[in-house]
Amino acid sequence: MKKVRTRFAPSPTGFLHIGGIRTAFFSWALAKRFQGDFILRIEDTDRKRLVPGSVQKIIEDLNWFGITPDEGPSREDLKATGDFWEGAPQGGGNYGPYIQSLRGARYHEVAEQLVDKGFAYRCDCTAEMLEKERLEQMARKEMPGYSGFCRNRKVSSATEHVIRLKIPFKRTVTLHDAVKGRITWDPIQLKDPVILKSDKLPLYHLAVVVDDHDMEISHVIRGDDWISTTPIHLLLYEYLGWEVPVFAHCPNILGNDGKKLSKRHGSTSIDSFREEGYLSEALFNFSMFIGWSPGEGVQEEKMTRDEIVSRFSLEGINTSGGVFDYTKLNWLNGVYIRELTPEKFIEAIQPYFNEYSFESIRQKITSLIPLIQERVKNFKEVPELVRFLIPGDVERDTAQILGQKGMTRELALRITEKVKDILLGDNSNNEYTWKPQELEKRALSVLEMLNSEKNDAQIKKGPFLITLRIAVLGKANTPPLFESFESLGKEEVIYRLEKFKSSL
Ligand code: GLU
Repeated sequence: MKKVRTRFAPSPTGFLHIGGIRTAFFSWALAKRFQGDFILRIEDTDRKRLVPGSVQKIIEDLNWFGITPDEGPSREDLKATGDFWEGAPQGGGNYGPYIQSLRGARYHEVAEQLVDKGFAYRCDCTAEMLEKERLEQMARKEMPGYSGFCRNRKVSSATEHVIRLKIPFKRTVTLHDAVKGRITWDPIQLKDPVILKSDKLPLYHLAVVVDDHDMEISHVIRGDDWISTTPIHLLLYEYLGWEVPVFAHCPNILGNDGKKLSKRHGSTSIDSFREEGYLSEALFNFSMFIGWSPGEGVQEEKMTRDEIVSRFSLEGINTSGGVFDYTKLNWLNGVYIRELTPEKFIEAIQPYFNEYSFESIRQKITSLIPLIQERVKNFKEVPELVRFLIPGDVERDTAQILGQKGMTRELALRITEKVKDILLGDNSNNEYTWKPQELEKRALSVLEMLNSEKNDAQIKKGPFLITLRIAVLGKANTPPLFESFESLGKEEVIYRLEKFKSSL
């Protein structure tokens, strides 16, 4: 079997989003499955759309997922395009450069070959002429596109010109796509596209075919928005006498309304997922399963990267788009979070503490780690959840206390006063350990006592505990109450119960 060589060929036009990088995952997984090579190629020929810094982001985002291309832009390439940054990987490979703007001479050479063989021609039509033609076509309700005016004019290479590819009239082409199956264009509806501009820069169609051929790419895995222009690529392979790689056009990732996933639906850029505290392993696993399935009978939705690679095949890619279900991602991320060792978890959450310092709670958080790990679906939730551990008084959501049925200011004060007393202990019952079970027993004995004093409606356990929770921890969403008391320590709990009065 021919060596599997796949590529990810993004244009450096901004940040990578999950749909784009999922295509990279497919390419990478296929290469790794068959001990092949995964290549990163930067397609920067559309100079107007370039966004500085994108190449660095692309490489760093791939690295975040643990993906290092086997071949890709070298430090020299990056220096030559002005995209260099300290810490850029060594990169490189036998088929470089891996940045299209550095490969211009080769595209030019191939375009000239096509002209020589009569498969392409020079065109010197001006923008005004083309616009006039377009308006006339619209008036005649014809498909817009170049009329072929220069096809037989033998425009001299000395005049300013573009090079256009000849699309034969009434030509049929068939694509045997590894995902979509057989697609036939009968005839090809496209009209002679420009393949080399007057400044000698290639258009995507020429550059992609030349590079995929020269870099010996065996499988072209890309988004299915490229299908409609694939006939141009197939013709180019034919004209140049080159072997056609396997094409696999992958469906888009959709939002829950069935439309292509975009910012409207939630996070889509890799950056935003990272900022919200998703684990790259979870995001990788999750997005692979949107458009691919490991085969019949496989039930599990959680799979390590190695398992995914060992099962990956193009046949498993779904033919239609899958929905990005944020609820499921949250669930899966939670599963991955719970698998982290406490040490790894602590390390992972620290960058999310930008509002207050992690150091201020480092000592107190340790015993709560398993309880927090159980509750969160991403790391960004952690700082807010454990804010109450910061020494000193808390801000309290007292409205929630008073909003409870049967709760009054007096009752809330009485509850907290009595609990404070019992936790402080008097001389006769001072002996107890500051452990969750003991604390709970003591608190509930207060509830019993208060109810025995009352002739009217009894205080329910729910409102009683919420009152205590908000009095000491500030809000209702926290790790379990008495474990939190344990972490805070006696002095701090008593202090806050005292302070509670003034906040009510
Ligand atoms: N540069 C194209 C893009 O930005 C890549 C298309 C392809 O993979 O052939 O999506």
